Amino acid sequence: MTASQSGRVRNIERIGIEVDMTEDDATSPIAGKKIAIVGAGPSGLTLARLLQMRGGSVTVYDLDPSLAARNQGGSLDLHEASGQLALKKAGLLDLFHAAARPEGQATRVLDHHGKIYVDLRPSDETSTRPEIDRGTLQSILFDSLEPGTVKWGRRLLSVERNEGGGLCLRFADDTTEQADLVFGSDGAWSRVRPMVSPDKPRYSDITFIEGRISAADTDWPDISRLVGEGAIMVTGDNRAILAQRNSDGHIRLYACLRETEEWIARQAFDFTDPASVRTKLLAHYAGWSPEMLQMLTASDDQFVLRPIYTHEPTQHWTPQPDVTLTGDAAHVMPPFTGKGVNLAMQDALELADALTGGEHADVASALRAYESGMLARMEKEIRLVLHDQDIFVSPIAPQGVIELFEARLRGEG
Ligand SMILES: Cc1cc2nc3c(=O)[nH]c(=O)nc-3n(C[C@H](O)[C@H](O)[C@H](O)COP(=O)(O)OP(=O)(O)OC[C@H]3O[C@@H](n4cnc5c(N)ncnc54)[C@H](O)[C@@H]3O)c2cc1C
Repeated sequence: MTASQSGRVRNIERIGIEVDMTEDDATSPIAGKKIAIVGAGPSGLTLARLLQMRGGSVTVYDLDPSLAARNQGGSLDLHEASGQLALKKAGLLDLFHAAARPEGQATRVLDHHGKIYVDLRPSDETSTRPEIDRGTLQSILFDSLEPGTVKWGRRLLSVERNEGGGLCLRFADDTTEQADLVFGSDGAWSRVRPMVSPDKPRYSDITFIEGRISAADTDWPDISRLVGEGAIMVTGDNRAILAQRNSDGHIRLYACLRETEEWIARQAFDFTDPASVRTKLLAHYAGWSPEMLQMLTASDDQFVLRPIYTHEPTQHWTPQPDVTLTGDAAHVMPPFTGKGVNLAMQDALELADALTGGEHADVASALRAYESGMLARMEKEIRLVLHDQDIFVSPIAPQGVIELFEARLRGEG
């Protein structure tokens, strides 16, 4: 058994695998209610699984034609008190550990000249946040649902209240569905959100351009060694490049640009002409060492623009008795604390607990309890991530980044 395998076993023993299978309870606030969840991302699928386990009648609607229809994004680490706890309650923690990569937690922080300042290697004792590919996590959750739960190819346009009671979901294919409860887990541009809040996400001043190095081990061994099994963060001069290993060995890159939306528009990046994108990126990172620039040169001819949006820490929110939001739909934020998925899954767990835990006599009071906890938590989390973003992409980086890592090692972050 390798060190990382023994780390996995220890994690499973420490966290335990208890499946909380509550029987269908006729007195539960969700008994007999038709529940629509919009969005089959990590948040919506976790919520669907937990509610189904507890007797809920759930349908999930997603605009994608299938689970495999699109690039699901890079590797994610799941934290014990949020993402892993939700999977534990969903009875899926063993599947997570079987697929996860504890070694993926290795992290290096470098400056733009290539000097290494932080070099964290996970040990069995510190491997509490294993990495998993987003696509694998989605598959574990999806496979746990009753067949036919997810209706693919259904793009929600709006939710409306029926005059005689209940909610009507309107889809882009001119169809409608009726539901008693609607939970919006449909990401940053949620179509359920207008039911509870007029606030929209704003641009966070950062744009990522995502790249990918498929054959790092064979064609770019220096980059492969530098990134290792985990991730590197190269920061300095108000710019950053993040690179992370994924399970099939490929390396995913994010060039982080601190530029206005107008500046990004003026660049007129043409993603059908990857060579021109690479040329513009290399020009933008002028002054960086050739070793760091090599990551941009090595990227496959495949770049994706990802402007980063955020909600404000405090939001206008009008509680509804039968509608609420989870995950990015409720609180999209930049990824610099690496918590978005974890918080999305924590929302799903807390909403399911509020609805089925026996503490609330009706759905409306369960939703109020869930929302007050979620909004208070997210006020702190969004303030924190906006603060960390200014540290990661700053003129004096990696100075503040090193201090952040030192604080985390002391258990303060
Ligand atoms: C570049 C980048 C890197 C990131 N890295 C990390 C990281 O390392 N760690 C981490 O924890 N988080 C990370 N995040 C954040 C993380 O991706 C999100 O917080 C997380 O995916 C939120 O999950 P969700 O289920 O709420 O929403 P989503 O994952 O956005 O899922 C929403 C679902 O709703 C569907 N949908 C959307 N609109 C509609 C509609 N109108 N009708 C029907 N369906 C719809 C979509 O197809 C999708 O399946 C990163 C984000 C970005 C942009």
